Amino acid sequence: MSPAQSSPAEAAETYDVVVVGAGFAGMYMLHRLRGLGFSARVYEQGGGVGGTWYWNRYPGARCDVESMQYSYSFSEELQQEWDWSERYAPQAEILKYANHVADRFDLRRDIQFDTRVERAVFDERGKRWSVTISDGRTVQAQFVVLATGCLSNARKPDINGLENFKGPVYHTGNWPHEPVDFSGQRVGLIGTGSSGIQSAPIIAEQAKHLTVFQRTANFSIPARNAALSAGDRDAFRKNYPEVRRFAREVARNGIFAEQPDRGALDDSDDTRRGKYEKRWEHGGLTFMYAYNNLGLDRTANDTAADFVRGKITEIVKDPATAKLLQPNSHPIGTKRICIDTDYFVTFNRPNVSLVDIKTTPIEEVTAHTVRVAGKDHEVDALVLATGFDAMTGSVAKIDIRGREGWTLNQKWAEGPKTYLGLMSAGFPNLFIITGPGSPSVLSNMIVSIEQHVDWIADCLTNMRKRGLATIEAGGDAEEKWVAHVNEVAQGTLYPQANSWYMGANIPSKPRIFMPYIGGVGTYRRICDEVAAKGYEGFVMEADAAAPGRDGVGQGCMTPA
Ligand code: NAP
Repeated sequence: MSPAQSSPAEAAETYDVVVVGAGFAGMYMLHRLRGLGFSARVYEQGGGVGGTWYWNRYPGARCDVESMQYSYSFSEELQQEWDWSERYAPQAEILKYANHVADRFDLRRDIQFDTRVERAVFDERGKRWSVTISDGRTVQAQFVVLATGCLSNARKPDINGLENFKGPVYHTGNWPHEPVDFSGQRVGLIGTGSSGIQSAPIIAEQAKHLTVFQRTANFSIPARNAALSAGDRDAFRKNYPEVRRFAREVARNGIFAEQPDRGALDDSDDTRRGKYEKRWEHGGLTFMYAYNNLGLDRTANDTAADFVRGKITEIVKDPATAKLLQPNSHPIGTKRICIDTDYFVTFNRPNVSLVDIKTTPIEEVTAHTVRVAGKDHEVDALVLATGFDAMTGSVAKIDIRGREGWTLNQKWAEGPKTYLGLMSAGFPNLFIITGPGSPSVLSNMIVSIEQHVDWIADCLTNMRKRGLATIEAGGDAEEKWVAHVNEVAQGTLYPQANSWYMGANIPSKPRIFMPYIGGVGTYRRICDEVAAKGYEGFVMEADAAAPGRDGVGQGCMTPA
């Protein structure tokens, strides 16, 4: 498990761990591994660190988790010294932070940029992964960690004639690095999820005309973004131990905020409206914390949904446009709630129009138009804010072969199966960070990333101490976990929406609620208990080259 065990020639190509991706997960994983004395190599397809924040450079891109919380907690100096400028950090500042972290912890020397991992094949005899990268080389590693991100595989929609369009076509999730100037242009925006809702107001300010093509109207809450003062930052910094503890252990979604103690129907109409008003004025994701049953009870949920629909009617002057912008296809919060700056008011601008493509889908994109219901909407540029093949898309792009040549794509053909979202049976020594079956996208991603990385780091340290060569999800444990993830989801309103959480945005994808909705605190306790019980439910095998050590992992099933 140490590079010293290899000859110098081999050492260049043999690592304890290959990490795929240098976003927030891959960077922290590398930092932990190096600190523990493991040799590690990170391969990153982009030209720099930052993952999501490297690719999503579209106008208006910013995080909808507050900056003081959407940041690493592993280094006290880092969290005390880094100055966030706004309540919600813009993309460029988050990318600057990622670069600062890479420099500060000297990460770049172990990251190879502009390199895709194409293939990973497990050699059952050698108990190693052979990892083929896009420069054609194959390296060996005992472990592979997929830090590939959950929203990293941008999806171009299957729209008739899109390839015939003569103007530029941009995808929000793969935005050019050079500035894009829409001045004087007629821009068509397809997609009204978080990315579309963030970019529309900025594009509208610049463009001659913006036409928004909306398939599903979405719930959006004002961000109320503002500059952070030194006092704001200090208040957080002094309180960081409690803020971070609460986010990890108490808050369901990893965000420190006041938690609701009652249901929406426990209050009178006036009291309830007052609470929603207060939260609407405060802005941000915590709107959904007004009551503790908004994700569980449809009648309770309707009170919040009606409130937001009412706000849209108040803001948008044209009644027909307001009606079209009111979401009514899903309970509020069951598709990722959006956080905006001036989204609805943008539709009061004379240079913005809204086209319904739900009742009458886009017929065709021609050289210069988008045709809907026989009408040609002329556009000079197209912006696709059409989302991602979420959670599994980036993993599926790698040809991963585990025991007996079985591929991960074959195994996951009917939906991803994992134990704790961390590993999949049949694929030893292959970890996934924030994978399907873990809280992941339902949480503050950095809280979940740090938890997974720390758990994996502890696991590898434990294995090294015990001379173990492999760890693998046990089949029974995996089946039970998948059933539990489903059961918890079915007890909520989430499966009622055609969301990317369900894989519903990809026509060929199985409909399964992918993340674990039990809450980050509960999930962390489960993971910690599993580890404390000798990695219960995992199968661990001894390193044949290290006789006399522990052998098969205690409390674990032995492989058949
Ligand atoms: P998204 O939520 O999946 O939204 C995609 C949009 O494109 C939807 O309105 C969808 O309509 C539409 N669409 C997809 N295919 C289409 C087609 N063929 N024809 C017409 N319309 C089509 O994607 P996203 O906005 O990029 O956001 C994805 C996730 O990334 C978010 O939910 C959030 O978790 C994260 N994100 C976060 C931030 C932030 O922190 N502020 C910002 C951006 C993204 P349907 O709804 O009808 O499918």
